[in-house]
Amino acid sequence: MSVQQPPRLVIFDCDGVLVDSEPISIAVLLDMIGRAGGSVSEEEAYRHFLGRSMATVREVLRDEFALELTDPQLGEMRTELMRRFRSQLRPVEGIAETLARLSVASCVASSGSLDRIRLSLGITGLLEMLEPRLYSAGMVRRGKPAPDLFLHAARAMNVAAGDCLVIEDSPAGIDAAHSAGMRVFAFTGASHAGHAALVAELAKRRPDRTFDDMRQLPEMLAGLR
Ligand SMILES: [Mg+2]
Repeated sequence: MSVQQPPRLVIFDCDGVLVDSEPISIAVLLDMIGRAGGSVSEEEAYRHFLGRSMATVREVLRDEFALELTDPQLGEMRTELMRRFRSQLRPVEGIAETLARLSVASCVASSGSLDRIRLSLGITGLLEMLEPRLYSAGMVRRGKPAPDLFLHAARAMNVAAGDCLVIEDSPAGIDAAHSAGMRVFAFTGASHAGHAALVAELAKRRPDRTFDDMRQLPEMLAGLR
């Protein structure tokens, strides 16, 4: 697989790539963990939970932090998250003009539920540009870092894995793209991306490129031609 071949499909992660949601999500998650009697630092949260589905977060909390969350606690957290999204969620800077300028097909593959993807993209004015090409972890058995969701999206879009380029902000997402046999660009322009531990985790995974201004993407794709 050569980096010089142009991709036929760009698969965008949602949180931290299309919408600047991670500071809100991590704050709400840490709030709930605290109220449930657990203790997780912000750095640990970014390391363990970024880019992962709620089902995976729940497993990691149980297995690595000895904290069992109840369904009502998760329900409350979801309600609070949606409330905060409605008042605070913003698109990633430059993403709308970038989507409008892209000359190859695109879709979304996110660890969030379909409802959450739709809400996030709706609030930020991006939904019309991407619907119905929305793929959620709920559609596959294993979430990121497993390759299942990216492979599902590629299949649904009728593009071979080797012709896909994934845009991701999380270590779990970069691992998922590599496992799927896809190229991956790490995006570090969302407001959570300054965390040193996170930057190091991303670099360790050797993405094909790392970039921090979404408006650069069309030129970067043109450079692959
Ligand atoms: Mg993400």
